[in-house]
Amino acid sequence: MTPVQALQKYFGYSAFRHDQEAIIRHVLNKKDVLALMPTGGGKSICYQLPAVMLEGLTIVISPLIALMKDQVDSLNVNGIPAAFLNSSQSTDEQIKLTTQLRNNQIKLLYLAPERLFANEGKLITFLKTLTVSLIAIDEAHCISHWGHDFRPEYLALANLKLEFLSIPVIALTATADKLTKKDILEKLNLKDPAIFISSFNRANITYNVAPKKNSFKQLLAFLDSKKEDSGIIYCLSRKSTESLAADLKEAGFSAEAYHAGLDNSIKARTQEAFLRDEVKIIVATIAFGMGINKSNVRYVVHVDMPKNIEGYYQETGRAGRDGLPSEAMLFYSPGDANKLKQFAMVEDNPDQSRIMLKKLDDMVRYCQLHACRRQFLLRYFDEDAANNCNSCDFCLTEFETFDGTLIAQKALSAVFRLKERFGATYVVDFLRGSKNEKIRAEHKELKTYGIGADISKNDWLRYLRELTGMGYLQVSDDAYPVLRLTAKSEAVLKGLEKVELVKSQIIEEHQPVTEEI
Ligand code: ADP
Ligand code: ZN
Repeated sequence: MTPVQALQKYFGYSAFRHDQEAIIRHVLNKKDVLALMPTGGGKSICYQLPAVMLEGLTIVISPLIALMKDQVDSLNVNGIPAAFLNSSQSTDEQIKLTTQLRNNQIKLLYLAPERLFANEGKLITFLKTLTVSLIAIDEAHCISHWGHDFRPEYLALANLKLEFLSIPVIALTATADKLTKKDILEKLNLKDPAIFISSFNRANITYNVAPKKNSFKQLLAFLDSKKEDSGIIYCLSRKSTESLAADLKEAGFSAEAYHAGLDNSIKARTQEAFLRDEVKIIVATIAFGMGINKSNVRYVVHVDMPKNIEGYYQETGRAGRDGLPSEAMLFYSPGDANKLKQFAMVEDNPDQSRIMLKKLDDMVRYCQLHACRRQFLLRYFDEDAANNCNSCDFCLTEFETFDGTLIAQKALSAVFRLKERFGATYVVDFLRGSKNEKIRAEHKELKTYGIGADISKNDWLRYLRELTGMGYLQVSDDAYPVLRLTAKSEAVLKGLEKVELVKSQIIEEHQPVTEEI
C-alpha cells in the first residue's frame, strides 16, 4: 500500500497537505525528522500514518493528558488500535494494556514524558522488549529553554535515542524560533535529521495593532461589523474574561467567559456551544484554544498584550482555518508591557527570566513596528517574506511622509560612531547630547554627540524604528539587542539615497522592557 492509499483507507482524506507526504516517506525510510507545521496543519498524520503502515508499535510522547485521550478516541473510531498510559488508570487497566502490547495488538501508545523513565526505568525496559518501529515527540519545543513553553520533564527525552538506537524519531512542533529549533535537534540527539518547515504564512489573516485607550469602546467599534461572526477575545486575567463577557452581553452580544478556573462542566458546555455557533464570542485566557478545531472563527482579539510572539501567533492562528478572510486585532499599551515584565522577573530561575524578557521585548517591538507585520512574524520564525503583504494595518495605511534624509544620516552615523555596540536608548541619548553619566566619557568626545538635540527622545525612538523597518538599520539578535548598520545604510550615509519618514506620531511610545547596554 502506498502512503496515499493508506491515507485514504485509514483517514478518509484524498490527498496530503503541506509536507506530509515527504515527511512520511522519510519516516518510513527510518530517518529522523523534525517537522515544523502551523497549528491545524496536520502534524498528527505524519506519525499516525507511518504507525499503521509499519510493523510494530509507535510510541507517542505528548505533554497534555486531555489531548491524548481525544487523539486515542479518534484513532479508535477510525479502527486504529491506540491507547494511552497515564496515572489515572487502575492497575487492572494497566495489566490489560500490557498484555495487549505484548500481543502486538496496539499500534500507537501515547505517553506523557515523565512516565517514560519513572519507576527506575521499568516502563522503558518493558518497551524495549516490544517491537518498536517509531518514536514521535509531539510539542517538541517543550524541550527547549528558549521556547515559550519549556517543560523540564521533556529533558529526559534526551536519553530516548540512546535507549532505542536504530529506531527513527520524529519530532513535531507548531512553534519554534531559530534558537529553539537548534536546541530541539541537539537535545533530542537526532541523527542526521531531515528538517521540514511548512510555511507559517496565514495569508487569509489580516494583522492589526492599535494603541489601547478605551479598550471596551475600541472593541465595540471593531465588533460593530461582525455581529454574526464567531470570534475569540483573549484577556490576561481570569477576572477580566468574566467582566468583559458580562459587559459584552449587556451590549447585546452573545458572549461567554472561559478560563482554567471554571468548572469542567461549564468549560465543556461553553466550548460545545461555541463549536455549534450557539455562542458567538468566547472571552478567554490563553487556557482556551488548545486542541480546539473550529474552522469558522472570523477574528481573534487580544485586549491585553500577549507575553510572546509564539503565543500570539498560535492564538491568532485559530482564526480562519477555513481559509476565508479573517482578522487579528491587538490592543497594545505600555502598561501591559510593564505588567508582563513584572511577571517575567519573578520567575524563580534567572536564566528563564531573561529569556522571557527577551521574548517580551520582541512582542513590544511587534506592537510598535513600523513595517509589515506579517513580514516581522514570518521572519521571527525564520521564514523569508516580501516587505508588503497588502493585508496588515501597516501595508494598508497611507502615511504622510517628509524628507527625512538628514535625520536618517544623523541616526546612521551615530550608530556607526558608536561602533554598532549600543541599543536604541543609548543611541538616542547620544544623539541628543544627554548629560546622563550613562553616556561614556569617550563618546562625549565624538563628532556626532549631540547633533540631534532638536528632536525629542520619543521622536528619535520612532525614527529609529522606522529606519529599522525600512532596512536601513537592524536590531541584533542578542539578549541585549544593539543597533547595527545594514547593506542599505551606506547609500544614505553617502547622500546617494533619500529617506522618507512618517510625519505624524501614530504609534504610542514605550521604552524597551529590558535594559539596553
Ligand atoms: P496539528 O496537530 O498540526 O495542529 P492535526 O493533526 O490535528 O493538526 O490536523 C488538523 C486537522 O486537519 C484534523 O482535523 C485532521 O484530521 C485534518 N487533516 C490532517 N491532514 C489532512 C489531509 N491530508 N487532508 C485533510 N484533512 C487533514
Ligand atoms: Zn503587511
